[in-house]
Amino acid sequence: MNKITIIGAGIGGLTTAIALIQKGFEVEIFENSPAFKKAGSGINLAINAMQIYKELGVYDDILLQGNYTNSMNALNKKLKVLTSAKLQKFEEKYKVKTVAIHRASLHEILLNHIGNTKIHLNKKLKSLEQNNGNVNLVFEDGTSHNATLVIGADGIHSNVRKSIFKNTELRDAKQVCWRGISKARIDKKYKKELNEIWGKGNRFGFVHITPEEVYWFGLINKDKFKSKDEDLQQIFSDYPQTVKNIIAETDKKEILCNEIWDLKPIDKWYNGNVCLLGDAAHATTPNLGQGACQAIESAMALSICLKEENNIETAFYKYQLIRKEKANYVTKTSWLLGKMAQSNNSIICILRNVITKLTPKFITEKQSEKILKLNF
Ligand SMILES: Cc1cc2nc3c(=O)[nH]c(=O)nc-3n(C[C@H](O)[C@H](O)[C@H](O)COP(=O)(O)OP(=O)(O)OC[C@H]3O[C@@H](n4cnc5c(N)ncnc54)[C@H](O)[C@@H]3O)c2cc1C
Repeated sequence: MNKITIIGAGIGGLTTAIALIQKGFEVEIFENSPAFKKAGSGINLAINAMQIYKELGVYDDILLQGNYTNSMNALNKKLKVLTSAKLQKFEEKYKVKTVAIHRASLHEILLNHIGNTKIHLNKKLKSLEQNNGNVNLVFEDGTSHNATLVIGADGIHSNVRKSIFKNTELRDAKQVCWRGISKARIDKKYKKELNEIWGKGNRFGFVHITPEEVYWFGLINKDKFKSKDEDLQQIFSDYPQTVKNIIAETDKKEILCNEIWDLKPIDKWYNGNVCLLGDAAHATTPNLGQGACQAIESAMALSICLKEENNIETAFYKYQLIRKEKANYVTKTSWLLGKMAQSNNSIICILRNVITKLTPKFITEKQSEKILKLNF
């Protein structure tokens, strides 16, 4: 197989590049951004993703620069636990840990593992056309490039996807999310926990990414949203003091604000010599913290299929067969969880908290296992 061309140098594109390079492929990458930004947010990498990073030799760097988390909890506003996923059992089974890390640190680690692979920055793909096994890439700057095998890892608004499929649909979760990194000193008991507090029409999550830094996210329903510069202390005024301290100790200029959308699951992830990966193929809402983890799984699965199969279409077919069902399960479950966690109705909120608290441990463990286990 000739050189493989990847569009997008996000977590999905870079992980795919590392996996392919290690299997002997030559790779080139085209990226829209003129330079890599130091995004002011963190990311949680779950056990499914960390198994892959271990195999790729990236795990130790991530563990060193991030923070190990051993439980993920949903709490009420009195900080009482509604449900808790204890991860020790999975850590022992899969021999890796869950890590929360600054996105910029993760990006740097991934870049350090692609060797001399060329990343063409400031290259926004406009569209592509396929002709007799040749893929012609057209960029916004008016230039073009010929490729034989293209992987579209260009995110939820993927131009690669728009070029090969006409009728894909993005779905508005009608929620808005602020994210930041705080220097607040919070209770030591939270050192290894990811906690999410559920309110009425809003929620707030936090996790350490280093001993001195806490990554946090706060969501509200879109109908209550006025502007991205809104006073977060006001929005979360009935939340515990810990939340107020976290917000107070955050550099306001670095706070990110995004609407939450996902991609309605699509039938096919490839067409001819072009294949989709990560958010371009299976963007999910962030409620399970699995978007990037699913991209990382897809990166490894696609590299294995391309290595094992000489025929491109067979490789793409096998990749989709291995990955689509699980990615769609995550998208669906995450969507439902987001609606439940952020209900605006008082009665539903009370029922939600009671039911969540009464859900037997074996059910939550079974759900976690389904996501944390790799099926390839
Ligand atoms: C609030 C929030 C919290 C989240 N938390 C988590 C979490 O804790 N854990 C987790 O696993 N996931 C999380 N996610 C999801 C995760 O961020 C995404 O699933 C992941 O970043 C997808 O990676 P990707 O490489 O597929 O796409 P992206 O990260 O979107 O990367 C796409 C890359 O392609 C480039 N690009 C775009 N268009 C073009 C073009 N036309 N030409 C060339 N280059 C292009 C972009 O500049 C970018 O570098 C969260 C998402 C949100 C919104």
